[in-house]
Parts: sequence; C-alpha cells; structure tokens
Amino acid sequence: GKVDNPYAGAKMYVNPEWSAHAAAEPGGSRVSNQPTAVWLDRIALVTGTSGTMGLRDHLDAALTQKGGGELVVQLVIYNLPGRDCSALASNGELGPTEIDKYKTQYIDPIAAILAEPKYAGLRIVTTVEIDSLPNLVTNVSGRPTATANCDVMKTNGNYVKGVGYALNKLGSIANVYNYVDAGHHGWLGWDDNLGASAEMFKQAATAEGSTLSNVHGFIVNTANYSALKEDNFKIDDSVNGTSVRQSKWVDWNRYTDELSYAQGMRTKLVSLGFDAHIGMLIDTSRNGWGGTARPTGPGALTSVDTYVNGGRYDRRIHLGNWCNQSGAGLGERPQAAPAAGIDAYVWIKPPGESDGASKEIPNNEGKGFDRMCDPTYTGNVRNGNSMSGALPNAPLAGQWFSAQFQELMKNAYPAL
Ligand code: BGC
Repeated sequence: GKVDNPYAGAKMYVNPEWSAHAAAEPGGSRVSNQPTAVWLDRIALVTGTSGTMGLRDHLDAALTQKGGGELVVQLVIYNLPGRDCSALASNGELGPTEIDKYKTQYIDPIAAILAEPKYAGLRIVTTVEIDSLPNLVTNVSGRPTATANCDVMKTNGNYVKGVGYALNKLGSIANVYNYVDAGHHGWLGWDDNLGASAEMFKQAATAEGSTLSNVHGFIVNTANYSALKEDNFKIDDSVNGTSVRQSKWVDWNRYTDELSYAQGMRTKLVSLGFDAHIGMLIDTSRNGWGGTARPTGPGALTSVDTYVNGGRYDRRIHLGNWCNQSGAGLGERPQAAPAAGIDAYVWIKPPGESDGASKEIPNNEGKGFDRMCDPTYTGNVRNGNSMSGALPNAPLAGQWFSAQFQELMKNAYPAL
C-alpha cells in the first residue's frame, strides 16, 4: 500500500543531467547535489534520445542512489494536447485534438515502465500537468483574461480527459503518488477562482474512469515565483482602517503567500471529497527573494500600499509575472514535512532552466515566443498591463540559462 507522505524518511533523486549543468557553473557545487524533478515534456524523453536520459535511465540511476533506504523520484507529466493554452513559451508537441496520441504514445508507455517490477521499491511522485486545469477556469470566455486556445481546450474537454486518464493509469501503480497541479496564490487565491478550480480538479480526477483516490495530493507554485511566507504583512492587517486586501499588490486576494494558500486550498479540496490525508507540495526552487533587496521589516504605515510594498519579499512588478523573473533567488531547500498539511518543499522547476525565450527562436519542440518573456514588453490584462520583469537574453523554455542561475544563487534565501 501507499504511505501517507512518500517524502517522510526518504532521500530524493538528484537528476544527473541537471546536476552536471549546475556543477559546471562557478559556485554551482553549492547546490548541484540538490534533488530536482525530471520533466517528461515530450514523447521522445520517455525512451530518451541520443544524448539525453530516458525514463528508464533515470529510474536505473535512482535505484543506484537509493541504496538500502527509501528514495523519491519526482517526475513531471507535461505533454497535454494544446499545452499551455494561455501562453506561448511552453506550447508542446501535441495539437489540441491529439488526445489519443497523448494516451497511447505518452501516458501508456510511461505507465508500462513505472510498473516494471524492478522499480517497485522506488517511491515515484508524479506532478500532473502544470497550469492546465486552472487555465480552464480563469482564461476562458466570460473572463477578461480569456484566450482562444483555452476556449478550445475547455470545449473539446481534452485537458480534463487527459488528466483523468493520466491519474487513473498512473495512480493504479502501487508505488506511484499523483500530485495534481493547483496553480499558485497569485493565480487562484481569489474567491472567484479558488472554489471553481477545486471543482475543476474534482471533475478531472473523476474523468476517464478515475476516482478521487488516484490523487495523493496537490502541488502549488510550480515554476512560479510566489513567496513561501510573507512575514511582514498578514491578510487580516489593515492600515488607517484600510484592509491589506485593498492594496494594489494584494488586490482583494484571499492569500498573501504560498504556505497559507496551500493550506487553504487543501481544506477546500477535502471539503469537496478528496481524501482527508491529501498532502500538498510547494515548489520552492525560485521563490527565495533574498539578497540585498529583501526587506528586513514591515513597510511604512503611511498607506496600505507603502505598508505592503515596503514589506513584501516578492519583488516582482506584478504578481501575474511568470517568466524568468529578475531579482528572484533560490528558495527553501527540498525537505519533507515542513509544515502542517505540507508533504514537502520541492524543487520541481530545475533552477537555471529558462521559462521561455526573450525573443523569437525557431525550434522543433513546438515552443512559441511569449512576450511575457521579453523585458521590453509592457504587459496585458493578465499582468495588469505591467512590465514583464523578465531577464534579457533568455534561451528557449527548458534550456540552460546561466545568467539566471547565477542570479538565483546570489539571491538565495536561505542564503547559500
Ligand atoms: C518547459 C519544459 C521544461 C521545463 C523545465 C518548461 O517551461 O516548457 O520544456 O522541461 O520548463 O525546465
């Protein structure tokens, strides 16, 4: 049977490919032995290509790292048809209608490998389809943030079907632990988004023959930059009688940080019928916000905006900015059971890998050019028409971005 928290008492797999990139950087050996996730972001990575490790290569390496103890391997399931419908940087190889290919050429082969008896002793964590389901709630018709591609994926049902199919197939394997992506507080923390998203997760978790018991937990903040814990202001604070919720930064959100959001979302999900033992994961790979710009205390009580803006660790221009954020740092190191309801802090987005190219770069991975990755872009309705805050000269999503890695180390919190 499955254990309650797979991270408890276990080491985590260090991806040798990421580790080599990190170790080759000046100062990189300070973090190159940290565990990061393996992103299966295209069919070719299931078997591997010449020069890249396939799924079996990773699992074999994991068996070696495991030795006699317990070990968690973290895999990202990320290849839905019409992937990344509200943005362009991480569009994938499958078109909006290619659900059968997703099932038979992606999920089925992954499931077959994970079910091989030699891997039965590994604890395999899957984080399932980053950003997909939340997009069906917040970026569809009826919202000012709607995109044509998200409307297509809502109408054809292929995100819901794909996630249901993946959860069912993978969840039926005795040592696989599914965690569904649940966005982050700066996306789903508003009242009109949180409940609707939780309902959407339930719909997907019960699609294609799946049941809620295939969901071991949820992950928040994957590949995002939202702070773990804002110590200098609380959602219930007010300044001169004005609530923090009315500040420009918080903008009526119900949460100020990822820890409180993860715990609040967890409570909501259990109330909808998910198992009372579900655990949350928080991606802390790039939400440290340390370095010289980190506030050392609360902001001035002049106005609610000076109070929040002076005290917040998250130094982004706008909470909706998501691409290669300038000023970010490595966050909490991966660790098991750090807080109530939280199975682990994890590094799912491998630090140093780009979120998207800052200009158009031809490629055969399906990746597009999203202006949210262009430092000169002045924004759109999804980021309050703000500057993108992105670092310049970024390569394609997933490729090594040395300058970003150096900045993440420099601004690490806790410091390296
Ligand atoms: C990219 C993937 C990559 C992942 C991890 C995503 O933004 O689209 O190709 O594997 O980041 O770096």
